[in-house]
Amino acid sequence: MRTFTLVSLSALALAGCAASSASTDTAPAAEATPVAAPPYAPVIPKGTGIFAEASSLPFQAPDFSKIQESDYEPAIEQGIAIQLAEVDAIANNPEAPTFENTMLALEKSGSMLTRVLYVFGALTSANTNDNLDAIDARTAPKITAMRDSITLNGKLFGRIKTLYDNRAQLGLAPDQLQLLTLQYDSMVRNGANLPDAQKAQLTEINGKLSSLQTDFGQKLTKGTKDGALVVKSKAALAGLGAGEIAAAAKAATDRGLPADSYVLPLQNTTQQPLLSSLTNRATRQALFEKSWNRSERGDASDTRALIMEIARLRAEKAKLLGFDSYAAYSLSDQMAKDPKAAIGLLEGFIPALGAAQKRDAAEINAMIKAEGGKFTVTPADWDFYAEKLRKKKYALDANQVKPYLEITSVLENGVFFAANQLYGLTFKKRTDIPVYHPDVTVYTVYDADGSELALFYFDPWKRDNKSGGAWMSNFVDQNALAGTKPVVFNVENFTKPAPGQPALITWDDANTMFHEFGHALHGMLSNQRYPSISGTNTARDFVEFPSQFNENWMTEPRVLANFAKHYKTGAPMPAELVAKIEKASTFNQGYALGEVITAALLDLNWHSVPAGYDFGGVNAYEGKVMAGLKS
Ligand SMILES: [Zn+2]
Repeated sequence: MRTFTLVSLSALALAGCAASSASTDTAPAAEATPVAAPPYAPVIPKGTGIFAEASSLPFQAPDFSKIQESDYEPAIEQGIAIQLAEVDAIANNPEAPTFENTMLALEKSGSMLTRVLYVFGALTSANTNDNLDAIDARTAPKITAMRDSITLNGKLFGRIKTLYDNRAQLGLAPDQLQLLTLQYDSMVRNGANLPDAQKAQLTEINGKLSSLQTDFGQKLTKGTKDGALVVKSKAALAGLGAGEIAAAAKAATDRGLPADSYVLPLQNTTQQPLLSSLTNRATRQALFEKSWNRSERGDASDTRALIMEIARLRAEKAKLLGFDSYAAYSLSDQMAKDPKAAIGLLEGFIPALGAAQKRDAAEINAMIKAEGGKFTVTPADWDFYAEKLRKKKYALDANQVKPYLEITSVLENGVFFAANQLYGLTFKKRTDIPVYHPDVTVYTVYDADGSELALFYFDPWKRDNKSGGAWMSNFVDQNALAGTKPVVFNVENFTKPAPGQPALITWDDANTMFHEFGHALHGMLSNQRYPSISGTNTARDFVEFPSQFNENWMTEPRVLANFAKHYKTGAPMPAELVAKIEKASTFNQGYALGEVITAALLDLNWHSVPAGYDFGGVNAYEGKVMAGLKS
């Protein structure tokens, strides 16, 4: 469950800038009759098209009824040119730097680019296509170059440094001081103090990384789509419910496959939800293999060469910036502060996780043996037998739970209800705001005093053109400077019911909704003057606090009773079933949490090496790290 905070464009300013400005130095007046210097009047280009001005829709919501795909690229190009001119004007202002003419001016800069990128970034993540991907690939390096030219603009940095060095005398309010400190620190962290030759090297590396990372994301989405498992017989799907089989048949029709074909699309992360119910071992293995190898099949979606190059360049970048590793660079402005703290925290879990895994594996293998199986459990089998074991130990069947989790009830009577009870918020669905996909719904959020607080979009179902996972982001940031209210969205990847089937989700899905809505609340309840520090623009490892906190309200008895009702009968979820869910909540965590912790440790290890480190290949390096983790 990642949160997806788009780059704040004022954070672009934060992150820094380039400038090609004409000198504004004025020669000392040697003439007998000094002439007053002309007033400083920098020329800022004007944008054109739909993103040039704020949307006229309520909350400045993006007008998807008018936005065309052909609008994005020119708007991004113009937005970059305008932001560069604005930053150039700030950097070359002949007046001495003040908070207003430097920091405030930076916060106000780049509004057109922010507008277009918030919308464009939302769509390339949640509803992309080949054309948008191509635009993304062309524009991402330009945006990175602009960001670098701001960060590495010596004149701009000089002004900010002057303010920072004199911050105690400026009489700044706490939020102004915070803004200045973050901006200064960020520029220093990102190379503002480097000599010119190293600035050039850094710019080159950042440009390459930007292209490689865009390519990685696109290959992963494509590999996930192409990795869908196609089966030719219904028998291979034994164990699935009628709704799941109908969805698999529809997915095959949608892909133009012949009748009697079934498609199981891949979901994000290695584990596939259907693995827990497929009784046919060969189908389980085929599905797991497809998922496991989605981006290492040696085809056009293979990401291994990209991973090596990205890791190599990140290590080099960190070295240039004076850090031992990319992880050290990346964590230096987070709450964890350094990789040792992060790795230490995660490694501390391993003994307990390992013991739990071994205990559960022994029980699963005993079950397989008792059923006459001649094999021991593999990752492809684990979820299937874990589910059986869960039923045996706790008499809990996931299929008993889903009828009580109809998605609209979970949202309106659960997620919204909790926010109402806690913060007094109320919600009203509206149909007059254009959306980017028919599955998206929109609500106005009202504050406790009845005033309009925010706009909230909800995009629940998995699509082949959506990145994996679940996330929150903004179309519009809250900030008093521009007088804007937050326009926030949640994107999930739940399995869409076949037409005519009820929209039932799993217990974990419902938990994900509460989680992502915690991020949404963080964005919606923001009350800041400056966009760079508004909403979820906080330290990355703090940003998960509001979401984790909000998850806990799902099982609060009053909340649960309000939303968990049988979709047909309206009967509340039986107390006995709730008790079983709670009792079983720590079951299988050795495996489930073990996978998450291991993935995080792999990631930290990829980024904890010094520049020039020889990984010896993706599979070899990960094998080596994994061997080192064995408890
Ligand atoms: Zn999160």
